[in-house]
Amino acid sequence: MTAQRLDGRACAKEVEAELTQRIAALKEVGITPHLAVIIVGNDPASHVYVNSKVKTCERLGIKSTHLELEESTDEETLRNHILSMNQQEGLHGILVQSPLPSHMDEDALTDLIHPSKDVDGFHPENLGRLVQGRLDGMLPCTPRGVMRMLSWANIPLKGKRAVVLGRSRIVGMPAALLMAARGADATVTVAHSKTESIKELCAQADVIIAAVGKADMVQPDWVKPGAVVVDVGINRVDDDSRERGWRLAGDVHPEVAEVASWLSPVPGGVGPMTIAMLMENTVRAAELAIQA
Ligand code: NDP
Repeated sequence: MTAQRLDGRACAKEVEAELTQRIAALKEVGITPHLAVIIVGNDPASHVYVNSKVKTCERLGIKSTHLELEESTDEETLRNHILSMNQQEGLHGILVQSPLPSHMDEDALTDLIHPSKDVDGFHPENLGRLVQGRLDGMLPCTPRGVMRMLSWANIPLKGKRAVVLGRSRIVGMPAALLMAARGADATVTVAHSKTESIKELCAQADVIIAAVGKADMVQPDWVKPGAVVVDVGINRVDDDSRERGWRLAGDVHPEVAEVASWLSPVPGGVGPMTIAMLMENTVRAAELAIQA
């Protein structure tokens, strides 16, 4: 079997086409969705992600404010920026790029973002709504992108056994909640670094969502023939054969494509969907701001 490609780029294009219409409707009533992206420090990968978010805003006609702060910035300064952005009328979304420098308390700082502007969906109020099974709040972009991509490919989830590898606040846990939510209706097992017999668990799954940050961890013999595999991982692996000396690898070994029925590529799978969902959350925040 050669897996069909869960093409995040193609799905994101469709999302963008829908958003273009919603943005045009907002502009007709004098509103331009506006996203602020804050980055602290010099992490090269974070700068790549932020640039790509800002570029997507430009392409769609979403206004963006890009605030770059020095690595040595103190927490108080960042806190004040967030609090002032919370008050700024016409600014609909605030995103603080992770990771923050180690001297900052990332959870405490992102908790300061007003829930209505929390386009990353990490605020306890938004995550709390998700735990309650209410899907109308701001949902975290990566897991939401995974769900959107599965629905786009018409992959049935109802009653299926799903294994989510990883239990982080930003990917694994919300992905598990979304998969188990009414409407999706999968039966979900969450695995993590202390899970025993992880290979055997995966081998029983109809759907595997891998979000561990370990290159090529999910091997072909972990996967039931015909299973659907979503690879969230983005890992840099040394590779002397490349001019830049490294390559990107997912959490899933590429040969899983010989066993699975669907597999999302890295790059070009979950990554573009994460950005598309960020754009959608920003547009939604702008739409809700009119109604407020
Ligand atoms: P975290 O490091 O926050 O979480 C990793 C999770 O994987 C933890 O729950 C950890 O378990 C678990 N884990 C680690 N090692 C193992 C193992 N050997 N066996 C089983 N479970 C393990 O990572 P994130 O959730 O933030 O990200 C996961 C991956 O997804 C990364 O590669 C990241 O780069 C990528 N990512 C991709 C995005 C995209 O847009 N495509 C967006 C966000 C992330 P424990 O809790 O016990 O420590």
